[in-house]
Amino acid sequence: MHLVNAKLTSFLNPYLEGFQHLIFPNTCLQCSHELSRFEKYICAFCWDKLQRTYFESYESPSGMDQLFWGRITLKETFALYFFEKEKPVQDILHALKYQFKAPLGRHFGRIMAETMIKSPKYKEIEALIPVPIHPQKRFLRGYNQSELLAQGMAEILKIPILLDTVQKKRNNASQTTKNRFLRWDNASEQFCFGKKGVTYRHIAIVDDVITTGSTLEAMAQLLRSQYPLLQISLISFAIAK
Ligand SMILES: [Zn+2]
Repeated sequence: MHLVNAKLTSFLNPYLEGFQHLIFPNTCLQCSHELSRFEKYICAFCWDKLQRTYFESYESPSGMDQLFWGRITLKETFALYFFEKEKPVQDILHALKYQFKAPLGRHFGRIMAETMIKSPKYKEIEALIPVPIHPQKRFLRGYNQSELLAQGMAEILKIPILLDTVQKKRNNASQTTKNRFLRWDNASEQFCFGKKGVTYRHIAIVDDVITTGSTLEAMAQLLRSQYPLLQISLISFAIAK
């Protein structure tokens, strides 16, 4: 079902995007003002209100690096924006997740990649692995928002997306009740390997928003268990402040 859905979605995408233009007027996602023809999804005023991390130009460890210290060894990390509740980034994330804004996901994925290529830090990344959602959820939603971000990124970075490497398990047991010694169990509880292996030296996991980092940690742990020498980087659209 997953494959059929993926194929159907990619076949329908150009039509749906065109169709969306008809249903949704060209207004700012945040303030609903009409956009000029030079603006896309968000008006210049709201764009200015988004809080950039500038992690790409950090020479010392960022807050995102520090979030994973003592949990999992990572090569590089990147997030485009800081996430705060009641702020524009939250609206974008919501639109990305629930309003069938597939072009928006790819649009921001391209912006993430265009920002990353300004730094030499991310040049060694060979492939992208979007955080998977359960196939049933993907079917109902029509897409996986992290996959859309990865699609936009792949266009710019010219690297492949690995879709059938890690899969999400259905049961999402509470992560907060688990103690640190049970981390491995947590990883294998949340994710499992798909049909395709990893033949790259350095991959980046792509997510839409990072709060505690436990999902990414679990996914990276699983990959590391099978590929001890694999270099793992994390890329997210937003990170909680
Ligand atoms: Zn606006």
